[in-house]
Amino acid sequence: MPGDSQPRGTGTAAVPAPDADGGPRPILEAEDLTKHFPVHRQGRADLGRRRVVHAVDGVSLALYPGQVTALVGESGSGKSTVARLLAQLFPASAGTIRLGGQRVRARRGRSFRRYTRQVQLIFQDPFSSLNPIHTVSYLLRRPLRLHGYARSTAQSEDGVARLLAEVNLTPPRQFMEKFPHELSGGQRQRVAVARALGARPAVILADEPVSMLDVSIRLSILNLLQRLVTERNLALLYITHDIASARYFATSTLVMYAGQIVEGGPSETVTQQPAHPYTQLLIASAPDPERLEAVAEAAATGEPPSLVTPPAGCRFHPRCPHAMDICRQAHPPRSDLGAGHWAHCWLHTEQGGAC
Ligand code: SF4
Repeated sequence: MPGDSQPRGTGTAAVPAPDADGGPRPILEAEDLTKHFPVHRQGRADLGRRRVVHAVDGVSLALYPGQVTALVGESGSGKSTVARLLAQLFPASAGTIRLGGQRVRARRGRSFRRYTRQVQLIFQDPFSSLNPIHTVSYLLRRPLRLHGYARSTAQSEDGVARLLAEVNLTPPRQFMEKFPHELSGGQRQRVAVARALGARPAVILADEPVSMLDVSIRLSILNLLQRLVTERNLALLYITHDIASARYFATSTLVMYAGQIVEGGPSETVTQQPAHPYTQLLIASAPDPERLEAVAEAAATGEPPSLVTPPAGCRFHPRCPHAMDICRQAHPPRSDLGAGHWAHCWLHTEQGGAC
């Protein structure tokens, strides 16, 4: 594995300096990130055939300070696995992660703690991500103590109050001694955001942060995250199945299908001029009462493939209305479409266009 020869530990990742050409440098990068899970049968690895789930294959991405990057795809496309790999919750099968330009591999102990000080993960379900036996005050005190930002009771209380105010849970005293079950879903997710902020991270990985909340409060949580990105110069990975919210919320958008990223670029371009047929399908499937015909058409185009035996060539070919012979034979290369927009699709290559 590429990471094996590298020193363990993360060191300190300061916010990166501008590039030589004055452009921003990414704070967190992944290159060719791959995760294959062994298939188990009756509790034992199926060693005879070495079958694996190709959860993530060759994913590369870069997160920049002060920017939101959306990672969009259907359920089971591998988005959450990418977030967990970036959070170092489990090791990659191959590929590289760099934080502040330094290659990292931090799975336990002090190096993992140093890494989590920089990179925080917010889970989809605020009901299960907050321990129900602890008060809000306890849950928020913990990162402050763990990362050395509060040493006394007074410092802790002050820090907790500031975190609550930062996520608009005011007056803070009204929330400190509550247990998670005494809060609404939106309030719980705000506490989860506050807990992540307690580490003073440079990067937040938000895995479907609003999908379990009432529609009426989703926008307010997204607005909160947007404000924090600006005020704290955070790099935010926003994982979602809702491509419409990516346009509203993210600077750039990456589209993931069956473990691979198939299209990327500025959110406005990707959502308004999608180049990959899968992105077009996602947009057609987005709820819009004025496009019921398109929804019906999209619904008729099948299911994601098995990731144990993914289709050869382009993984989308069994569902693609434009599939050609070459699509079934070879993985499409990346085609740059201008202004930072790109796609992996034979339609956008000379070779595929000639078929
Ligand atoms: Fe469709 Fe072929 Fe493009 Fe894949 S490469 S999305 S099958 S046209």
